Amino acid sequence: MSDLRMRADLEALPNYKPGQAPKQLNPELVRYKVSANENPFPPLPSVRNAVANTLEGFNRYPDSSGADLASRLAQRYSVDPMNIALGSGSVEIVSQMIRAVADPGSEILFAWRSFEAYPLLVTAASATPIMVPLNDEHAHDFDAMLAAITDKTRLIIVCNPNNPTGTCITEEQLEAFMSNVPSDITVLIDEAYEHFNTRTDSPIGIDFFRKYPNVAVAHTFSKAYGLAGLRVGYAIVPEQLGQAMRKVSLPFGVTTLAQFAAAASLDAEEELQERVNHLIDERERVVASLTALGWDLTETQANFLWFPLGESSTKAAQVFESHGLSVRPYAGEGVRVTIDSDEANDRIVQVAEILVKQGLDNRLVTQLVKMQ
Ligand SMILES: *Cc1c(COP(=O)(O)O)cnc(C)c1O
Repeated sequence: MSDLRMRADLEALPNYKPGQAPKQLNPELVRYKVSANENPFPPLPSVRNAVANTLEGFNRYPDSSGADLASRLAQRYSVDPMNIALGSGSVEIVSQMIRAVADPGSEILFAWRSFEAYPLLVTAASATPIMVPLNDEHAHDFDAMLAAITDKTRLIIVCNPNNPTGTCITEEQLEAFMSNVPSDITVLIDEAYEHFNTRTDSPIGIDFFRKYPNVAVAHTFSKAYGLAGLRVGYAIVPEQLGQAMRKVSLPFGVTTLAQFAAAASLDAEEELQERVNHLIDERERVVASLTALGWDLTETQANFLWFPLGESSTKAAQVFESHGLSVRPYAGEGVRVTIDSDEANDRIVQVAEILVKQGLDNRLVTQLVKMQ
């Protein structure tokens, strides 16, 4: 047994659970990974070429400031490059932001359930996560979040659309919220799924950034842009926050490959949005089929579905798994399923029908709630 001196609260730190690859239960079955909200399309040729062109040079360190990519992003949003923070995925962006604002014991507030990584990053930074339950519609409860603000609050994270429930907030709700948040507390709007959001009443993070000096917006190249394996994300932030984030960021955290792939992806945005549009159409097709089967799902504006199955969640996830779909179960709460290739999506509908036949759907739950 090793006897190394470790930080005292290590035991209390949870592990991140990545989306699982499908288990090999039945070799006859084609299997799909629908557990990590990835983009099913392979990289675009132009993006592959951009990456290939960097291969000659990776004996050298990357540009540590990511100056070219930062200036591209600054132009795109008409902000100063100092307002752009780059990270090794937007997970690292969130981590930088927490470590830039929080002292040990500071409070970081966010809705729950939301993105799995938030409480891990907060506790790893020795800050305290304040997790405010979602409302009955699986959406942000802004009144409860306002009530949870204390003089220890340093950062509030609003995930829109929310992972894993897919729910959206409205511009009106966010305005009302912002007008009550003290202006020295940073509000981060995490828009990892913004490209999939078709609601016109939903807030646009950058507009709030322009209006409020304490708003930051996080974006990622992992989902709509399909660069999950290269790790690059960014935030549009007040300059003071950007400087602080650069101090605590991982040096050389964004590789040369990732920087070039991200810049090439900005060049290919129209082509990429066509793929996203296809995924949105697929989402609507699957939702319509599930509704016809009797499912009562929350409206999703992301590239995944949320099955609020409560106590049946683990069992339902096993049924998905046994039919070749690795999904993301949240025990006692629900199951998240990513919209993927057309074939995978067909399979989702098939399994949803099987779940209804097995009495593992949520109609009964919904009826009971409505009767109250
Ligand atoms: C996937 C996801 C991210 C992005 O993660 P990367 O580190 O950029 O791959 C950020 N926020 C939320 C809510 C997500 O679901």
